[in-house]
Amino acid sequence: MKNLAILGATGSIGGSTLEIVRNNPEKLRVRVLTGGKKWPQLAKQALEFKPDLVVIADKNAYGDLKKALAGSSIRVEAGNEAVIAAVNLEPLDAVVAAIVGAAGLQPVMAAVEKGLQICLANKETLVVGGSLVMQAIKKAGVNLLPVDSEHSAIFQCLQNSPENSLSKIIITASGGPFRTFSREQMLAVTPEQALKHPNWDMGGKITIDSATLMNKGLEVIEAHWLFDVDYDNIEIIVHPQSIIHSLVEFSDGSVIAQLGWPDMRLPIQYALSWPQRWAPPLPALDLARVASMTFEQPDMSRFACLAYAIEAGRAGGIMPCVLNAANEVAVAAFLKRQIGFIEIPALIRKTMDSFKNQPAASISQLLEIDVQAREKASAMLTNGMN
Ligand code: NAD
Ligand code: MG
Repeated sequence: MKNLAILGATGSIGGSTLEIVRNNPEKLRVRVLTGGKKWPQLAKQALEFKPDLVVIADKNAYGDLKKALAGSSIRVEAGNEAVIAAVNLEPLDAVVAAIVGAAGLQPVMAAVEKGLQICLANKETLVVGGSLVMQAIKKAGVNLLPVDSEHSAIFQCLQNSPENSLSKIIITASGGPFRTFSREQMLAVTPEQALKHPNWDMGGKITIDSATLMNKGLEVIEAHWLFDVDYDNIEIIVHPQSIIHSLVEFSDGSVIAQLGWPDMRLPIQYALSWPQRWAPPLPALDLARVASMTFEQPDMSRFACLAYAIEAGRAGGIMPCVLNAANEVAVAAFLKRQIGFIEIPALIRKTMDSFKNQPAASISQLLEIDVQAREKASAMLTNGMN
């Protein structure tokens, strides 16, 4: 029996994780659930899964959540500090890190320091703090299991491969809803259009990141840290059907891929079952139904976010943290209709250009840079983009 803390339980990954738990009650037990703001949903989840502790990040929701769980023996806490401290509950074996954005970094660091297994969906943790997070993980000797479908695919391809046999990682990208749009068409893109992903059903922020291809850029940085691969040896290929989740090329030229329906339940379950494999959480892949798989080069000029993310990853230091913070501000502004779709990369570019790079020295330094980058990006929004 694995005792779980699910951070970001009320989100898309959180909900799919609970479905895996529901189907495997003899293997998984929920001890901690955390949510951001949606207290009714968190209360409903808590009443079903009966954790020892629930935490809501939004302190204003504490009273409502507490009232909804009155009469149960579930402990209720609120606030960002309580989310970070939630991983200290006993007994815990693993954490599913499914908070969105840089807000997920500190809870993951706390879980690593506690020696818990990390099932990582929150890619921003590795984008912002990659070198420091990986150092802490090595020091603590904990297992870091990728939930992101591409990284789960690579991880699965690498099982039982000899040391130093990996020569290249090939990350697939759906290309998002605007893959075939011209620059002119992109000028008129609305949040509603961008929130409709052709293959995946996900939270709002990552859906916009998938439309700008920032998501793929963040995934390149994530892969660099997870698999210790140079940026020169990470390739991106657009594969609109999202059936091949990624590939690995080995030193003898052989390429191995992992396939499946575009559904996060399988990668989530594998992170929880590893090194075992459990009963399938979805219907079997049917290649005749897939019929064809196609591949094309990504267009970095129409999707500048991808180029900026790779640039920031290669630069290292604080740059990926700046990129990520600017992106979070830009995506939120786009969703609020304060800026247009193609102004997302423009705001990120300007914010990156306003920072002088420096080495990533500590998590507290990065948290400060994160705040500064958000302030700069927000100020540029207020003062106009030009
Ligand atoms: P989501 O928006 O659906 O859910 C995010 C969760 O985090 C919610 O529970 C929300 O309440 C919580 N949250 C948000 N801000 C918070 C804060 N400041 N403090 C504490 N909790 C907070 O997002 P999602 O789509 O489930 O994605 C979660 C993470 O997983 C992201 O990093 C995303 O990139 C990654 N991911 C998601 C998918 C997917 O299919 N959804 C696939 C791969 C990776
Ligand atoms: Mg992914």
